[in-house]
Order: sequence, then C-alpha cells, then structure tokens
Amino acid sequence: MNAMANASCDAAPLPVRQPENLLKISFEFFPPRNEKMERDLWDAVKRLEPLAPKFVSVTYGAGGSTRERTHNTVSRITEETSLAAAAHLTCVSATREEVDDVARRYWDAGIRHIVALRGDAPEGEDTYTPHPGGYAYAADLVTGLKKVADFEVSVAAYPETHPTASSADADLDNLKRKIDAGAVRAITQYFFDGDVYLRFMDRVHAAGVNVPVVPGILPVTNFAQVRKFSAMCGTSVPQWMAELFEGLDDDPETRKLVAATVAAEQCRMLQANGVNEFHFYTLNRADLAYAISHILGLRPADDDQAETGSRRTET
Ligand SMILES: Cc1cc2nc3c(=O)[nH]c(=O)nc-3n(C[C@H](O)[C@H](O)[C@H](O)COP(=O)(O)OP(=O)(O)OC[C@H]3O[C@@H](n4cnc5c(N)ncnc54)[C@H](O)[C@@H]3O)c2cc1C
Repeated sequence: MNAMANASCDAAPLPVRQPENLLKISFEFFPPRNEKMERDLWDAVKRLEPLAPKFVSVTYGAGGSTRERTHNTVSRITEETSLAAAAHLTCVSATREEVDDVARRYWDAGIRHIVALRGDAPEGEDTYTPHPGGYAYAADLVTGLKKVADFEVSVAAYPETHPTASSADADLDNLKRKIDAGAVRAITQYFFDGDVYLRFMDRVHAAGVNVPVVPGILPVTNFAQVRKFSAMCGTSVPQWMAELFEGLDDDPETRKLVAATVAAEQCRMLQANGVNEFHFYTLNRADLAYAISHILGLRPADDDQAETGSRRTET
C-alpha cells in the first residue's frame, strides 16, 4: 500500500490552521556532553522558545549519570529563558534520600515540574533491580516527590505496553497508580501508528484516568537507529515507514524532509481526532520540531509578547 496515503488518510485536508490557543506543545531535550553539544542545544532552545511551549523537559541519564548536567541544563533554561523547564528524574541506583535531595535542589532552584520515571537497568545489567534503599517504581517516586514539595509531576505511559509489564491491563493499572499518587499528566512513549494511541486512549478513559496523556512524537531522522531502539522499547515500526526510508541511508537531506512529513501527518491525523497536545522528542534539534509545529498551526509569539513571556498556546 502507498505509505503516505496510508499515513494521511484520516487527516483533514490542508490548510488546517487550528486556533492557536487550543494547541499545546512541549519539547524534550537531553543534557549535552560537551561544548559543541551545549551550543547545539542552546541554538535549539532559542529557536523553539518563541513557539511558547507549555514546558520543555530535560532527560536524566541512565543510572543518574547526568545528574549534574541535567540539573545545570534545567537551571540554565529557567534562568535565561521565558520557558518553564521540567527535570526528568529516575529511581535507578540511588537511595530515597539521594533522590529526595536531588528533588529538593530542584525546588530550591525554582524548578516546579518533575517528570518522574523508574528508569532502566544501568549499562551492563540485563534487568532492572530496585536499589535496596530506593524507590522501586515510578509510582513510589511520585509519592516521594509529593512529600518533598508540591511539584507538578508528569509520568510515562505506553500505548504499546511497557516491554516488561506482565500484561497491558497491569500496565494500565500502573499508570493509574502513578496518577493516583499525584501525577497530573502522562507523556507517552513514541509510537508511529496513530490508531495505536487512539485505541490506548479508549482504554485509558475506560480505566477512569482523566488527566492528559500527551502523545510523544519522535520525528525520525536516523531510521536504522530508531528501528533498533524501537525493538528495545516496544514500539512497533510499520512496514510503510521502512518503505519510506528505503534507499535514503546516505541521503540525510531527503531523510529530513521525509521525517518532517511523516511526523506532521501523524500529528494531523491525531489533531483530526481531537488531540491538541503534543510532546516532541527533539534530540536537541529544532528544525523538525519547529517545522511540524508550524504545520500544526503554531506561530511564534510577537516580539513584545515574547519579552513579557506571554504564551500563544494555552497554559
Ligand atoms: C516520556 C518518557 C520520558 C522518559 N525519560 C527518561 C529519562 O529521562 N531517563 C531514563 O533513564 N529513562 C527515561 N524514560 C524511559 C523509562 O525510564 C523506561 O521506559 C523505564 O523502563 C520505565 O519507566 P517508567 O517510569 O514507565 O516505570 P514504571 O511506571 O515504574 O513501570 C515500569 C515497569 O514496571 C511495571 N511495574 C510498575 N509497578 C510495579 C510493581 N509494583 N510490581 C511489578 N511491576 C511493576 C510496569 O507495568 C512497567 O512494566 C522515559 C520514558 C518516557 C515514556
């Protein structure tokens, strides 16, 4: 089947400019490892800032390996931009006291939003084992964070079920536990088939979870890498995507155009089904996230609005 036709069949025809105040976006970054990466990240943050996202978040490396870098990045965004920054935090390889200390430092630095995660096994270990003195699962972490301070807490959700969950229902129960513990939003693992998300949302609502479950959108620039990573995190890669990227291994320019088109079509299909909020995994690059946001109808805030930090997206 024609891949693009398949991807776009449910979307409204262009142009489809939504009222900006309905559309909410957020961007995810990872903490840079060196000066060049720091400059690239900062360029991306500055380019995306005028789109006035609801928040931007910064990931936490496996096993807490980026503790300081995540903290520095989130703090710098908070201090030097108009953006609301959220810090990811995991349970891995740390006692409850250590995790609580990290959270307290965030609170003291004015950071009010934490993305609370269990995390994966550190490198070299096959399976996740809770630290004996630590938070075992994300739901426990949410409970602990709410004791430290009244953080806004987001958590992870899995439209295709977390790979180690005993069943899809058990995974949904786990999501519910995280919300009951105080999380106000879930962000999904990335997925490529919009129907998978919509069917998941039917189950989420049927389970009585009524907080936003924001689709995580990954614009694919390196298909081979994404295919490998998807196998580990349980995201299925449709055949039509493999066909779209076929023959483009040595053609990054065309890959980028294809990536923007695929992700924009995915978002527009969801938009046509009433979804107004998107979380973009930027991989610290602004170009694709910016282009897709533009296609969805978002425009930069006016300069004077940007200066006062006002938002064109709903807050
Ligand atoms: C939006 C998003 C952002 C992410 N950011 C990061 C990041 O910054 N750093 C990072 O290292 N990783 C990150 N991850 C990856 C995440 O850490 C992994 O997917 C991890 O394997 C699960 O984390 P979780 O918070 O979903 O875990 P949990 O919600 O704790 O669930 C993990 C698994 O355990 C099961 N489970 C939960 N409670 C119990 C229980 N009591 N008994 C038995 N089983 C249970 C669940 O069903 C699930 O299978 C992110 C993932 C997403 C979707």
